[in-house]
Amino acid sequence: MSFESLGLAPALLRALAEQGYAEPTPVQAGSIPLVLAGHDLLAAAQTGTGKTAAFALPLLQKLSKAGPATPRYPRALVLTPTRELAAQILDNVQAYGKHIRIHATTIFGGVGMGPQINALRRGVDLVIATPGRLIDHMQQRSVDLSCVETLVLDEADRMLDMGFLPALKRILGALPKQRQTLLFSATFAPEIKALALQFMREPREVSVTPPNTVAATVSHHVHPVDAERKRELLLHVLAQDSRRQTLVFSRTKHGADKLVKYLEQSGVRAAAIHGNKSQNARTKALADFKSGRITVLVATDIAARGIDIDQLPMVINFDLPMVAEDYVHRIGRTGRAGSEGMAVSLVSHDESGLLRDIRKLLKDEISISDVPGFAPSAPLRLDAGAPRPKQGQRQPRAPQQRSQGTPSHRPHGHAQQGNGEHAAGNRKRRRRPRPAAKA
Ligand code: AMP
Repeated sequence: MSFESLGLAPALLRALAEQGYAEPTPVQAGSIPLVLAGHDLLAAAQTGTGKTAAFALPLLQKLSKAGPATPRYPRALVLTPTRELAAQILDNVQAYGKHIRIHATTIFGGVGMGPQINALRRGVDLVIATPGRLIDHMQQRSVDLSCVETLVLDEADRMLDMGFLPALKRILGALPKQRQTLLFSATFAPEIKALALQFMREPREVSVTPPNTVAATVSHHVHPVDAERKRELLLHVLAQDSRRQTLVFSRTKHGADKLVKYLEQSGVRAAAIHGNKSQNARTKALADFKSGRITVLVATDIAARGIDIDQLPMVINFDLPMVAEDYVHRIGRTGRAGSEGMAVSLVSHDESGLLRDIRKLLKDEISISDVPGFAPSAPLRLDAGAPRPKQGQRQPRAPQQRSQGTPSHRPHGHAQQGNGEHAAGNRKRRRRPRPAAKA
């Protein structure tokens, strides 16, 4: 299978060759012809399968055939749950669209409306937005969605999870009924199917991995350990290959900060990425991680969502996620596009119940082994009465991501950045962010 055989234009093929993409991934092979043919699409594809290109390529091809961009009237809209994901999609769109004239911009909160309004006034073909700030623009009439021909809902499961449904409905109400709708989701829960049925027309389905599975190239290891010795064990695991880029998940922002401090004191170059960090600090941490200036990035679930790091070899769950599905999302950072990956979870007795859920969800053997010298005082319990951390320890999902944004230093012409990813869904719970910490 080649990109040529999917019916893509020469300008896109050239850009793909420059990206070093030899052949389409399964989700691309399945989706691109359907999207080009104008069908609605329901795609079950986790991050790391090449799903961004699966919608971006046919979208660019369609947009390139239309006339010049009209002020305020985008022709395509991509909705995503987080600013990181929006920024990443824009990066990809710009790379794939390098040889065609397409104006794309991101729209999200946390930064001034002015530059975004200016970009919209200049005319954009494609808007990549988080729902909250898009609604702000709709209210101000700085954007008009009545000419949108294609809508993409990316990470639809996560959008629903984050309470974006009311915002989504509002945006959908402002779109033409005659349009093409593409919905991508890592997991295909019944709510997603219900959403699809409400807003889509006879969608075709593409499913490249069975729902709720992680890439087959990832090996999963669980190391039982007493909670108070987790940090030590983390150091021990990291020390096995001190140059290996590792993404570490922490359940809480505070926990992430504490962990970074500990790692730094132990001589490991690390930074945290979470919702209390300013946009600049987050961008810098990610850039430092990508460039190898730091080897460990400690992230909370939402902040890490959608981060695209090529060939990340290792993900460590310092804490298990409270929701089993989040394990799938976390592990989606490794073993991407066919490369080998390793997922290590440090699990304390009180997390036994969470581990049980994850094993059930994956229907896959996760190897559980003690690390010599770190065997826990009580074994994990994987029976029905297995304990779980108290709910109070759960990281609140939505409001934590609010932080003071600063205009980014991204090099994109009229691309805007900000951090209003949760604005609409959680409006009631909005509060003023604390001053952003330095990474
Ligand atoms: P995504 O699932 O969209 O987050 O993509 C995961 C990673 O795979 C990104 O780093 C892409 O640049 C890369 N990728 C996407 N399509 C291909 C392809 N056909 N060949 C090689 N790498 C790809």
